[in-house]
Amino acid sequence: MSGGVNAAFLPWQGELLTQALELKKQQRLPHAVLIDSASDQDISAFVHYLSRLLLCDAPQKLSTCESCEACRMLQSGTYADFNYVTLEPNDKTNKLSKNIKIEQIRKLIHEVSLTARYTRLKIAAIYPAEAMNNSSANALLKTLEEPGAGVLLLLVTHNKGRIPITLRSRCQVWNIKAADKNQAMTWLANQDMEQDEAVRHLDYANGDPVLALNLMQQGYASLVDEFKSNFSRFIRGELSVAVLCKELRGFESPLLRRLINRILSAYCYQMSGANAEAGAEVPQDRATIQALLQLQQQAQHNLQVEENNLDLQLQLEDVLISLKQILTRRTV
Ligand SMILES: [Zn+2]
Repeated sequence: MSGGVNAAFLPWQGELLTQALELKKQQRLPHAVLIDSASDQDISAFVHYLSRLLLCDAPQKLSTCESCEACRMLQSGTYADFNYVTLEPNDKTNKLSKNIKIEQIRKLIHEVSLTARYTRLKIAAIYPAEAMNNSSANALLKTLEEPGAGVLLLLVTHNKGRIPITLRSRCQVWNIKAADKNQAMTWLANQDMEQDEAVRHLDYANGDPVLALNLMQQGYASLVDEFKSNFSRFIRGELSVAVLCKELRGFESPLLRRLINRILSAYCYQMSGANAEAGAEVPQDRATIQALLQLQQQAQHNLQVEENNLDLQLQLEDVLISLKQILTRRTV
């Protein structure tokens, strides 16, 4: 139940489940909860599991009984008192919408205002809640002010700060903590990741084990290695920017963004003298550091907005050319 990728929940999510079940037992569940996840990895499976656990008539520890009426109906997708609102694909392009639309929220409010069909809680979950636009948030506000009896509204987010304060202030906040080092290493070992690989990928993923696993499965380490050697040749003038970028073409945009951000951060860090090993030799050249920081900001912005892969390639070339200019200007 707690180990694999396909498990109902991840070990570091268990604490929140325990807390939620305890509140239910004591009949102290609030009407509205803001669930804030420290990780930016998808937690839709967790939201569904939490809902199923709260609706189950006879949960055993952190498991659903799978035999009560609620469990059976939830399994077959016919449970009417659970509503889940998320980003929907566009009819024409099939691309996932960037916003949760007002119509979706109106429909949810309508559902929530109907009399409960069963005697249990009525759960409505919105994920990612930060994707609601202003009009959606405003529409929801009234429901938060006067929630129906037995309604539990879950606003689920990776970024609490992006939820309007008017909504936030009406919710109890539940945090899903980040995995600690031990939990992360144990979990990755359970996914058959070698220890040194786990350490390396956790570093790439800033300590997030799910992201570390994703990065390994996408071959991020080989991308980093290959890029490093090509990049030094590019700096020495042995490789053109076009060839350098051509090598990157097979990788997904989020991986490339991550790589570029990491490289720029590493240079900023090194040049600022914060790196003790390099500190002695690297001149702390203010102009260079400033140019690097500026490039990093610009790259973060430009690479983020590029959805189209061809545009992303062009932006990448731009960033790498600028980086080369900054680095070679310094050493000349
Ligand atoms: Zn059950």
